[in-house]
Amino acid sequence: MHPMVKPALRRGWRDLNTVQFGMTPAHALTLGPVDTATGSFLDLLDGTRGLELLREEGRRMDLPDGHVDRLVERLARAGLLDDARGGGPEAADLRERKEVLDRLRPDLAALSLLTSEPGDAIEHLAVRRRLRVQVRGAGRVGVALAALLSGAGVGEVDVRDGGRVEPGDIAPGGLSAESVGERRDESARRAVRRAAPGPASRRGPKSPAEADTPGFSLVIIAPRDDVSVHAPAPSAAEPLIASGTPHLYAGVVEGTGIVGPLVLPGETGCAGCLHQERTDRDPAWPRLVAQWHSGRRRSARACDVTLATTVAGLAAAHALTFLDGRTPSSTGARWEISVPALQWHARPVWPHSACSCGAAEKGKQEHISEDRGTHATMAVQHSQEFCRTTDAARLAGTWRAHV
Ligand SMILES: [Zn+2]
Repeated sequence: MHPMVKPALRRGWRDLNTVQFGMTPAHALTLGPVDTATGSFLDLLDGTRGLELLREEGRRMDLPDGHVDRLVERLARAGLLDDARGGGPEAADLRERKEVLDRLRPDLAALSLLTSEPGDAIEHLAVRRRLRVQVRGAGRVGVALAALLSGAGVGEVDVRDGGRVEPGDIAPGGLSAESVGERRDESARRAVRRAAPGPASRRGPKSPAEADTPGFSLVIIAPRDDVSVHAPAPSAAEPLIASGTPHLYAGVVEGTGIVGPLVLPGETGCAGCLHQERTDRDPAWPRLVAQWHSGRRRSARACDVTLATTVAGLAAAHALTFLDGRTPSSTGARWEISVPALQWHARPVWPHSACSCGAAEKGKQEHISEDRGTHATMAVQHSQEFCRTTDAARLAGTWRAHV
């Protein structure tokens, strides 16, 4: 191991023997007591030295025997340490692609805030390179979202859509003005390639049949059609539910941006559950949806470019959170934001017993003794679990900073 105090966290001394790592309440930690000699020694933990060399430096600085190992272990257990050589063979391969890694360094630093074991952050980044994601919809939201995932190091981002690029599809970070008149899917894929931090990893040619099979870690449904954003068709997601493919909805309808729900098939509420719930609440809902679908196509749908970009960014972040192995707060919930107030709020999408996805059935089995009134969303439960584990792993003398 080549220990490195996570460079993403700024360091500051709260007093003579207490160090604070990080600035913001979300990720800051304080460590104490730390004597002055140990404090100076922290500067040597920059990933350039192995343990043997660090022990030697420790002896030179008259630190007691075993002190260096204890400090390294303490920092590692507090989640403050990374390993400049760790992360396994895929991480080693990524390190060799210096130009790719240089592009992704800020993302790597950000990932290091979320991982506890040394070497985990780069391992996560390396795993992204072999993930396959499909984005359905190459409008203002879909292309920017796909490009963001590609730029974040996701190895394969496939974009599906029909027709040709229209001037209104163009958006910064998405389709360019030069692509007007070209096939939407081809232009979108080019935008994805342009955003990638390096050449695509080699993969055999896909047969047309394979292209439609699941095998995607995540499918993102980002329709250009505003009705499909507001009232996602349960039938369109049936193959995804049947194949167990996680999928996330994102889009803009009128002056409202939507991110979610992220559907974990058979576990969390899906488009069918949402449709059933809306019909329960408003018997006119199916009649309205049918009219919206059959209504005359308007020449220009509302899609504020800043709102579309906001939705693309947040949806991509939720997607990455999921792809990195966590449960984002869009799981079983729709985040909505409307102009001009621009405040995000979440609406839960509960599993519905009349939906064939099976999530309600599973929920009943798992929460049979739970009171529905206190039933938090899955996302909340998960984040609480995560806090509990990190707290449990934290050593005495290390605590979350109240800054
Ligand atoms: Zn359902």
